[in-house]
Amino acid sequence: MNKKDEKNKILEQNNLDKISEINNDASDKMEKIVSLAKRRGFVYPSSEIYGGFAGIYDFGPMGVELENNIKNHWWKWMVQKRRDIVGLDSGIFMNPKIWEASGHTKGFSDPMAECKECNTRIRVDKVLEEIGVSADEKMSEEEINKLFDENRNKIKCPKCGKQNFSEVKKFNLLVQSNLGDFTKKGDSPAYLRGETCQGIYVNFSNVVDSIHMKLPFGIAQIGKAFRNEISPRQFLFRAREFEQMEMQYFTHPKDEMKEFEKLREYRWKAILDLGIKEENIRWKQHDNLVFYAKDAWDIEYKYPWGFDELEGIHARGNYDLTQHSEGCGKAQDYYDQEKNEKFIPHIIESSIGVGRLVFAILDNAYIEEEVKGEMRVVLRLNKKIAPVKVAVLPLSKKEELSKPALELFEKLNEKFVCQYDETQSIGKRYRRQDEIGTPYCITFDFETLEDGAVTIRDRDTMEQERIKIDELTDYLEFKLK
Ligand code: ATP
Repeated sequence: MNKKDEKNKILEQNNLDKISEINNDASDKMEKIVSLAKRRGFVYPSSEIYGGFAGIYDFGPMGVELENNIKNHWWKWMVQKRRDIVGLDSGIFMNPKIWEASGHTKGFSDPMAECKECNTRIRVDKVLEEIGVSADEKMSEEEINKLFDENRNKIKCPKCGKQNFSEVKKFNLLVQSNLGDFTKKGDSPAYLRGETCQGIYVNFSNVVDSIHMKLPFGIAQIGKAFRNEISPRQFLFRAREFEQMEMQYFTHPKDEMKEFEKLREYRWKAILDLGIKEENIRWKQHDNLVFYAKDAWDIEYKYPWGFDELEGIHARGNYDLTQHSEGCGKAQDYYDQEKNEKFIPHIIESSIGVGRLVFAILDNAYIEEEVKGEMRVVLRLNKKIAPVKVAVLPLSKKEELSKPALELFEKLNEKFVCQYDETQSIGKRYRRQDEIGTPYCITFDFETLEDGAVTIRDRDTMEQERIKIDELTDYLEFKLK
C-alpha cells in the first residue's frame, strides 16, 4: 500500500478528519526534543536537584534502553557481522605516558577566549564558524588570534552581550585525576581518557599475539571518554562525559586508501540501517588535515541548528603506532610471515559518539501531526531500536481484565521488551506510548474474555487489527523483524 492509500485507509477506519504532519522543521525543535527526552524518561540533565552540572547527562529508563539498542546495533555491524574485526574493553585509566606519546598532553586543545566582563568562556573556532568565518581547533594560537582580532567587532559574549574578550589561548581538554597519586602535589596526574582509541592502539600487539589476527583487521570498542569542553552545550552534542564507539582498522600501507573507501561506504549503510533518513545526513571532507592524515571525512547530521559532525572516518597513516613505538621503546610493528615483511600498519578509524547518535535518532524520529483536530507527538523510531516494543493495555482496571492482561504481559515480556499500563484513559495511554516510540499497543478488552483475541494498534498508521492471543507471538515476531 502506498503512503496515500495508507493514510486514506486510516481516515476511513478511524473516521479521522485529518492526519497531517505539522511543524516538523520548526525553530523550536531543539527545545521540543529536550523537553520530550526529560518528560518521557530518555535523558535528564545531571545533578538537577543540586542545580545541575554542565556537560553531563543521565540516561533515564527509556534512554538506557534506546542507548543499549543503539550500541548493540553498532556492535553487530562493527564486530559480530565481520570476521575481520574483534572487540575490546580497555580501562578508562591508562599509563599517563600514553597521552604524552599520542600528543594529547601538548596538542589536545581547543582555542578559548574569556569575556573580561563576566568571565564566560567561548570556544573561538566554533564562534567564528557561526559567523561564517572558516576556522578550526588545529590552527596555531597565532593564526586563530589573527582571525579573532579581525572579527572581534562581530562577536558578542553569549551571557552579558559585551565585546570585551581576552586574547585566544589554547586550552587542553584532558581531564586529570589523582588516581594512584598519594603525594597531594598533583604533579603526576593520571588522565581520564579523552578518546577510547588509545586503548585500542596499545593493545594492537596483544591482539596479534593472542588471537593471531591477520592484516587487514580491526579492533572495536565502546566506552566512556572525558573532555574538558570549554562550552558544553547543544544538549548531548557536546558533553564533558560521553561514550564513543570506535573501530580502528589496521592495514598494509598500500591498502590504506582502498580500505578507507570501503569503510566509508559501510558506515553510511550502517547509519541508514538505524532508520536515519538519507536527506538528514551528508558527507563533509576536512579542508585542514593534520600533518600525518591522508584523508578525513565526517558524516554530518542535520541537527536542529544545521548540519554538524556525527561521525568521523579518518585515514591516519602510521602515526599512532609510530608514536607508541617511540613512546614505549618497543616497535609496534607487524610481521607478515608469507611475504617475510615487517612494517608499521596504517590505520583507518571510524569514531562516533553514542550521545550524538541518540540525539540524531530522536530528532530524526520526532514527528508532530494533527489527528482528529488534536496534536499528536510520535517518535517514529526504527522498530529495532525502540526502547519498548509492545505495550499491554487492559481496557479496565477490574481484576477480571487486569489478571489475564498481566499474564499476557508476562508471557510476551519473555520475548519482547514490554510495558504494562492500566492507568488513565486508553487515549492517554496511546499518546504516552507514541511519545516513547512503542511500535505496537495491545488492548485487552471484555470481548477478549469471550473470543480470545486482542486489538493491536500500529504506532505509525494507527490502524487497528484484531488478533487471536495464540497467534500473537508469531505476529509480533514477524512485525518486529
Ligand atoms: P568537534 O570538532 O565537534 O569537537 P571532534 O572532531 O573533536 O569533534 P573527535 O575527536 O573526532 O571529535 O571524536 C570522535 C567522535 O566522538 C565525534 O564524531 C563525536 O561523535 C564524538 N564526540 C566528540 N566530542 C564529543 C563531545 N564533547 N560530546 C559528545 N560527543 C563527542
